Amino acid sequence: MSKVKVATVWLDGCSGCHMSLLDIDERLIALAEKIDLLYGPLVDAKVFPEWVDVTLVEGAVSSEEDLAKIRKIRAHTKILISLGDCAVTGNVPSMRDVFTVDEVLNRTYVENSDLKQLAPESVVPKLLNKVRPVHEFVNVDIFVPGCPPSADNIFYVLSELLEGRMPDLAMTARFGA
Ligand code: SF4
Repeated sequence: MSKVKVATVWLDGCSGCHMSLLDIDERLIALAEKIDLLYGPLVDAKVFPEWVDVTLVEGAVSSEEDLAKIRKIRAHTKILISLGDCAVTGNVPSMRDVFTVDEVLNRTYVENSDLKQLAPESVVPKLLNKVRPVHEFVNVDIFVPGCPPSADNIFYVLSELLEGRMPDLAMTARFGA
């Protein structure tokens, strides 16, 4: 039987959700027998594959680069999972939403800098006016709340999908858990 193709993506998040994925510990070995991890910060792949069965998305949509990335990923993914409170609600990165982009850049690159007091105009992705959760831009199939989501819940979600079932997290997941 061919393995299920899986990708993970890191948008505007702290990597804590990916750390929680690794916290599955020895159960990763069982998953590895059924999953091919094709793309993400945990593997050395530069280009998102033509097609994957499941993509786990950590982080909110914060920049034009994030937005282009999530749209492309959605078009090449069967089941898209918002992994963690940043992806599900905006959470920590959306705390900047009470400021304008100019205020954020000024605070970061001018007020808090001793040298080269200038906001970058290239290389650093252009920020969107607001940080928003993933489902405000693309359709999301499964939401896994938590900051970070527990390893047990991530394992449960993947295990259910591998068994051909849609996971039900109503009783086990909560925001900020
Ligand atoms: S949900 Fe929490 S752990 Fe995950 S990226 Fe956001 S801040 Fe980090």
